[in-house]
Amino acid sequence: MTLAFITLSFFDVLDILLVAFLLYQIYLLIRGTVAINIFVGLFLFYLMWLFVKALNMELLSSILGQFIGVGVIALIIVFQQEVRKFLLHVGSRYNFSHKFSFEKWLTVDEKSIKDKEIKAIIESCESMSKSKTGALIVITKRTDLLSFAETGQIIKARISSSLLESIFFKNSPLHDGALILDNNRILAARCILPVSDNPNIPGSLGLRHRSGIGISQITDAHVIIVSEETGNISYVMRGKIKVRISTEELRRFLNADYSSFIS
Ligand code: ATP
Ligand code: MG
Repeated sequence: MTLAFITLSFFDVLDILLVAFLLYQIYLLIRGTVAINIFVGLFLFYLMWLFVKALNMELLSSILGQFIGVGVIALIIVFQQEVRKFLLHVGSRYNFSHKFSFEKWLTVDEKSIKDKEIKAIIESCESMSKSKTGALIVITKRTDLLSFAETGQIIKARISSSLLESIFFKNSPLHDGALILDNNRILAARCILPVSDNPNIPGSLGLRHRSGIGISQITDAHVIIVSEETGNISYVMRGKIKVRISTEELRRFLNADYSSFIS
């Protein structure tokens, strides 16, 4: 195809489309985080460099050029969290080896929570919601959460509603922090989670909610939160929180029906 002075091959079009797609993915990833401000800052910096270069201001343009030269490394450092999130997202979505691995085939459903345990979780959440007992329960999906579990107390016990309730009971030594479920078991309690830096989280949600959102941003874990202040139950996945869900909704989410999940 020839447009006046420019020759445009199929691969040029493909190239442009791919870059547009990539930029859009980056935008989706950093939308609503502080990273977007950094991104805008860097972009302005780049524009300034182009401007200075066009004006032939040698000294300034060479200084700015030095910064732009190490730009990729600087970007990786500044966007470390986002790069990690992006790779994790791509990796977990296109995880073919996992899908077709023999081990997975042999251990179908090993990682999901079984019916009896789902019932126990719902029962305890209902009761903690009524008594306004704060709870933060992280459900491991594919990403291993051992490094977070190790910040707390390893338990490795069967899931039961009485155990869940006694862990979160206000005077219990283990009630603080998060409880991590893995492979249909309680892996650990009193764990420390990374707090989300999303500026769009409403101010009414404190650290319990923010740390629940935080872990779901950097891993594929799902989180159940019972608020100590309101007794509300919330469900978190992929950095999004659905507050004030009913027990019925919680049951659906635990049974992997996320059709009603909206941010
Ligand atoms: P609530 O509605 O229950 O009050 P909240 O979102 O307002 O919840 P806070 O009142 O700040 O949150 O709750 C503090 C509790 O959250 C702490 O006692 C602790 O158990 C838990 N918590 C705070 N930060 C973290 C963290 N980084 N990781 C895990 N748990 C945390
Ligand atoms: Mg609070």
